[in-house]
Amino acid sequence: MRYRKLGNTGMAASIIGLGTEHLDGKEYAIVKETIGAAMDHGINIMDVFMPGHEVRQNIGKAIRGNRNKFIIQGHIGSTDINQQYDISRDLDTCKKYFQNLLTDLGTDYIDVGMLFFIDTEKHFDEVFNTEIYSYARQLKQKGVIRAIGASSHNPIIATKMVESGLIELLMFSINPAFDMVPGDIDALSYFDTDYDRNSILEIDKKRLDLYRTCEKLNVPITVMKTLAGGKLLSQEHSPFSKALTVKQCIHYALTRPAVASVLVGSQSRKHVEEAVSYLNAEQDDLDYTAAISEMNSDFKGSCVYCNHCLPCPVGIDIAAVTKYLDIAIMDPSTVNKGIGQHYRELTAHGSDCIKCGSCESKCPFSVSVMDNMDEAARIFGL
Ligand code: SF4
Ligand code: SF4
Repeated sequence: MRYRKLGNTGMAASIIGLGTEHLDGKEYAIVKETIGAAMDHGINIMDVFMPGHEVRQNIGKAIRGNRNKFIIQGHIGSTDINQQYDISRDLDTCKKYFQNLLTDLGTDYIDVGMLFFIDTEKHFDEVFNTEIYSYARQLKQKGVIRAIGASSHNPIIATKMVESGLIELLMFSINPAFDMVPGDIDALSYFDTDYDRNSILEIDKKRLDLYRTCEKLNVPITVMKTLAGGKLLSQEHSPFSKALTVKQCIHYALTRPAVASVLVGSQSRKHVEEAVSYLNAEQDDLDYTAAISEMNSDFKGSCVYCNHCLPCPVGIDIAAVTKYLDIAIMDPSTVNKGIGQHYRELTAHGSDCIKCGSCESKCPFSVSVMDNMDEAARIFGL
């Protein structure tokens, strides 16, 4: 397993994590098998948003004796009032369900207290300008949670949360299809409608800006909806001309700026093993560019950080250089801060480019890589 730091929280998460949604309603033996497989493969992060007692208790039972092996994301505001999954912004209800989560899991702490489902300005106000956020802060002061996070599907609201400095981790829906949906449209339901395929042209700037902002501010992203509910795995339902594989979807998410871990929904040892097989995959099996580059010529010219253009004879990590360059262009003040430092820590830099042109001939998106290397060298000074 490989691990990435979770921003400033002091924690490090496995790049493949466990989404537990599909364990809801399953018998204990399945929960135990799935979580056992996760532990066997070094998965150390899981998200538990489901409000029901039974699934929470089954997860608690499955991790008994191994609680400290998992970073648990637990949500504040996820409820099942009237036996239906629901979002609550009522403080007492939020407290009750969060306390139940601790009890059901058999633990006295949650690693990341997640403010649940912040997708609109109204949600933002209901959580951050009320006692719900104060409650999260109190939990952190008491050590009941180690960090405050939030989940969202809306890049505009998510950017607002990240820039506000109020959260330390963001859970966000990332996959190649959602990334093409304009930020002000609800991506969750977009592909359930009779959408216009010609509207899926390029990576939405608001989403890309969100990822770059997270990287700049050192707010890590954990990823949900990696497979777009399975739509991307089917040629018929994918908005692209081809179906993608699970590994390609995981790789796409893991190559976005700031992404620390992809939480893959699993309900068996087989599912977990399929997800972690990503770690031993050949580069060719991870390459998602063929699927997403055939959409539309308007997509050309923007780097998607896929590294399809490697190898570079002088060892430049072209995706990393371009990612840091894009963030520095977006916010020049980062050049002398963390982003500049990350750039300088790379083993080869824009100034090392010998203009062999091999990258540009391989890039499916017609990116002017050599110009980017020159620009990176100019901006970062090496
Ligand atoms: S330059 Fe092209 S091939 Fe290389 S990382 Fe960017 S998009 Fe991918
Ligand atoms: S042109 Fe520069 S960045 Fe591209 S492969 Fe050659 S040396 Fe590497």
